[in-house]
Amino acid sequence: MTQTTQLDVPSRGASTAHPLPEVAIPPAAPSLLGDTIGGERSAGLDSAHRALRDRLGSRGIVHVNSTDTGGGVAEMLHRVLRYSRGAGLDTRWFTIEGDPGFFALTKRLHHLLHGHDAPGPALGPAAVAAYRAAGECNARALLRSVRPGDLVTLHDPQVAGMTLPLRRAGVRVVWRCHIGTDTDNQYTARAWAFLAPFLETADAYVFSRAQYVPRLLGGRHVAVIQPSIDPLSAKNRPLDADTAAAIAGRIGLGEPPAGDRPAVYRRGDGSPAAVRRRPDALFSVAPPPDGAPLVVQISRWDPLKDMAGVMASFADGGHALGGAHLALVGPDVSRVSDDPEGGRVFANCVEYWRGLPLRIRSRIHLACLPMADAEENAVMVNALQRRAAVVAQKSLAEGFGLTVTEAMWKGRPVVASAVGGIRDQIHDGVHGLLVDDPTDGAAFAARTAGLVHDPKRAVSLGAGARERAREHFLDDRQLRQQAALYGTLAAE
Ligand code: UDP
Repeated sequence: MTQTTQLDVPSRGASTAHPLPEVAIPPAAPSLLGDTIGGERSAGLDSAHRALRDRLGSRGIVHVNSTDTGGGVAEMLHRVLRYSRGAGLDTRWFTIEGDPGFFALTKRLHHLLHGHDAPGPALGPAAVAAYRAAGECNARALLRSVRPGDLVTLHDPQVAGMTLPLRRAGVRVVWRCHIGTDTDNQYTARAWAFLAPFLETADAYVFSRAQYVPRLLGGRHVAVIQPSIDPLSAKNRPLDADTAAAIAGRIGLGEPPAGDRPAVYRRGDGSPAAVRRRPDALFSVAPPPDGAPLVVQISRWDPLKDMAGVMASFADGGHALGGAHLALVGPDVSRVSDDPEGGRVFANCVEYWRGLPLRIRSRIHLACLPMADAEENAVMVNALQRRAAVVAQKSLAEGFGLTVTEAMWKGRPVVASAVGGIRDQIHDGVHGLLVDDPTDGAAFAARTAGLVHDPKRAVSLGAGARERAREHFLDDRQLRQQAALYGTLAAE
């Protein structure tokens, strides 16, 4: 049964004294992607940006979401918007404010849109009023920084309540939803019923998958744009195997670097740096030995990522996995402001881990990576994905898994649940392996073990994965689609 909690009216509802926090976006020239995507794609991107600049004139492009750290949307905006700015487009990014009651409500909406229920505030009139107040308050604050005619993209349910007040002020609004399900159920119906009145007036809508578009948007301007990754970011840039191993060792998920060799990498500005921070939390009997195959899942501590399910599948199917180790890695649970569940999910994982017999527990490692330095955090993720023999993504639901694309780009074999956008990312047996039933831990363990024991197949799936990521899931493709959408809106 679902618990309901009392929803406080967000405290921000009473004040519009200051503008919304703005996230710094250092520009990056899109031409930098040229070496990776080739001349033809690079020229196509250049002409798409030129056409958009002409259409926009002095109008700006603004993005708004709920956080600049943790999760795929923040990850993507940090990178994609740099290229947008580097292309000469006046691009800005703001994050909203809300109190814990507001984020508990929006997290519940997040689960419902994924087709799952979760504890949280009841979606009654008090929630509607609080959500509206938060949307109006954040919109008023944003209006201190945008002009009529600017194109504002609002990301996900946390900010949908800003649509109407922004439209009233003459701002063009795109609502982009990064989550969804292929089939409606009572939970998605509740979420859409709640959100529908807030969404009506948007100029356009963006979804990651055609199947996610709700019926209520029939006949409206809808675009399907899949998320993408930046091959030049600290998370995806090449990293040699020795450095990856040294970084994994430094953070306790590999043998300590020999002779205390520093885990040195290059920062985005070209300067050398060493990974110095340790995980904020690490539960591990001893680091995985260098020769042991490592299965890695990197996710927020969210019930839908099913970190506990990966552990259970590993524990039950561990015999088939031989000497393999499992690393479950997520962000520092105190640092993802719009995700109130992280601490509880992580604590449950730790409790489960503590209860495992030592022979299994000693092959499972839980780590929360520090988030204080975004580039250091990214390079840690990069190293662990490269160090992985198999990358797991056993999500129960997934709008579109950036972690999956990140692993594919690194040529890693992925075993993932056949849910949501992951089905667009991986064709089973060509770019990775899919498990039909996301709750089937035995099948997940068997497919993972199959790859651990068949390195040739793992290499061939990894090669297919890399090619697919290059073809479909790099930032230039998304930038072109966005330019086309904004160009159409600007011309209307
Ligand atoms: N991520 C990270 N550090 C972590 C855990 C996750 O940087 O400790 C990143 C991960 O690399 C990916 C994003 O967070 O870029 C998660 O995006 P995804 O689409 O997989 O899932 P979401 O969190 O948006 O549901």
